[in-house]
Amino acid sequence: MTLRTSKHPRVMSSNYLIALGSNRPHHLYGSPRSVLAAAMEECAALGTVSARSPIVTSDPMGPAQRSFANAACVLESEYDPPALLAGLKRLEREFGRRTARRWGDRVLDLDIILWSAGTYTSRTLTIPHREFRGRDFVLKPALEIAPDWRDPVTGLTVRHLAARST
Ligand code: ADP
Ligand code: MG
Repeated sequence: MTLRTSKHPRVMSSNYLIALGSNRPHHLYGSPRSVLAAAMEECAALGTVSARSPIVTSDPMGPAQRSFANAACVLESEYDPPALLAGLKRLEREFGRRTARRWGDRVLDLDIILWSAGTYTSRTLTIPHREFRGRDFVLKPALEIAPDWRDPVTGLTVRHLAARST
């Protein structure tokens, strides 16, 4: 945690584990992998990106489906959870995500997985992310950058959750 001094009021920052996903190419950035590489750069607008996972690609499962790219990053930010979610949604929109699209088909999906300050619950936001414990495509990249981060709900580390989900 960092404390700002001098001219600025002291603002606490905290760490967030962010999951990134893409399965549609972007007209400028290109492939889902390139979308995620660009999105990880853009996350710097919301704080300091202190770790980035490799980008993993999953093959399409049928002729009509597209392959997914997934990654994770650790973001140190002064934003509280609702403000960060608003910032991430703005980024999704900048990458051309349309809200009405069905689940699973998007240029960019940004989810808040874990927060160093613990849990957060509101009507529109739940941290830890409700589904992440069973999602290999979230846990695999997370394992690369935050293996010892503990899920405050189950008490299990990312390493443990990743081992359990495969
Ligand atoms: P999904 O990520 O499950 O494919 P969306 O990205 O469309 O679905 O998210 C739907 C809503 O989930 C968001 O508008 C947001 O309000 C809510 N949400 C709840 N918890 C979280 C979280 N931890 N991270 C991101 N969004 C969340
Ligand atoms: Mg999402």
